[in-house]
Amino acid sequence: MGYKHLKFLVNSVFLVTGGAGFIGSNLCEAILNLGYKVKCLDDLSTGKQENVDMFMDNPNYTFIKGDIKDLAICMKACEGVDYVLNQAAWGSVPRSIEMPLFYCANNIQGTLNMLEAARQNGVKKFIYASSSSVYGDEPNLPKTEGREGNLLSPYAVSKRADEEWAKQYTKHYGLDTYGMRYFNVFGRRQDPYGAYAAVIPKFIKLLLNNEQPTINGDGKQSRDFTYIENVIEANLKACLASSEAAGQVYNIAYGGREYLIDIYYTLTKALGKDIEPNFGPDRAGDIKHSNADIGKAKKLLEYDPEYDFARGLNEAIGWYKENL
Ligand code: NAD
Repeated sequence: MGYKHLKFLVNSVFLVTGGAGFIGSNLCEAILNLGYKVKCLDDLSTGKQENVDMFMDNPNYTFIKGDIKDLAICMKACEGVDYVLNQAAWGSVPRSIEMPLFYCANNIQGTLNMLEAARQNGVKKFIYASSSSVYGDEPNLPKTEGREGNLLSPYAVSKRADEEWAKQYTKHYGLDTYGMRYFNVFGRRQDPYGAYAAVIPKFIKLLLNNEQPTINGDGKQSRDFTYIENVIEANLKACLASSEAAGQVYNIAYGGREYLIDIYYTLTKALGKDIEPNFGPDRAGDIKHSNADIGKAKKLLEYDPEYDFARGLNEAIGWYKENL
């Protein structure tokens, strides 16, 4: 369980793209805490300078401000790197419907540039962020790798395309790639601000400010909300996985399912707020239920998530109370 016992070669170098964002900065922190070197490549488009500044005093940390749409920058960033953890991308289903061309350039061409740069620099393992959105309208639960439906948004297309490109790089060039299909990740440093903020930090922020949150739809949608510590474990275990497990995609979740309305009332109780939610229309491109079969990651990556939803939510609430 967990990742704190994992061992890499002493001089291992990790490159985290999107390292100024929510998941990326948590990966940087975990790797630095284990004592290894981290390069962070980020254009700060949705990431935050403060997620870089917090590590600047650590001699094992280097920050490169740059865009993965620029192959030359990707090439430079991959020099001397053992493991790439490619997180850089723009998230949000509704935003992708508003700006499809950008999502293609940023999320697909950007990752392709990183794959090419990793290959040319002899990187050992290429782990990349995919998403549960690749299951599209497939109605069956739990979601299982190999049983995908029609894609419902440009964002989902971008993640699915990344998976296919990564498989090509394993097949033709022998680059060990591992796709992490994250399911609704939450935890410390996830951005609560803006129109495209994820639901847990957004609700916590509004409730702390005594404002009334709006639930899209009836609140009876459910998701496999996954605490950030489990995502860190999955990424680091993938770095140590066998080459036989490469060229594949893995559900990264806890394997549970929480209803939005229940989360809402858990939060009001935990924060001591007596505020009823607003209910708004359903969001385009959203699915009703999501829940992952994590058997494949357990078997091939030895992924064994440590944090169930309640434990993760408790930690997240504690963090936001102190930091918002
Ligand atoms: P985030 O927005 O907090 O982080 C993304 C980071 O990537 C930001 O720091 C941003 O500045 C950077 N970035 C974006 N485009 C870039 C570019 N062209 N060049 C360099 N840097 C760039 O988002 P996050 O929630 O931490 O997501 C990380 C990854 O995980 C993304 O690929 C996202 O699609 C994926 N993902 C996240 C979730 C989730 O629940 N948070 C779920 C599924 C998949």
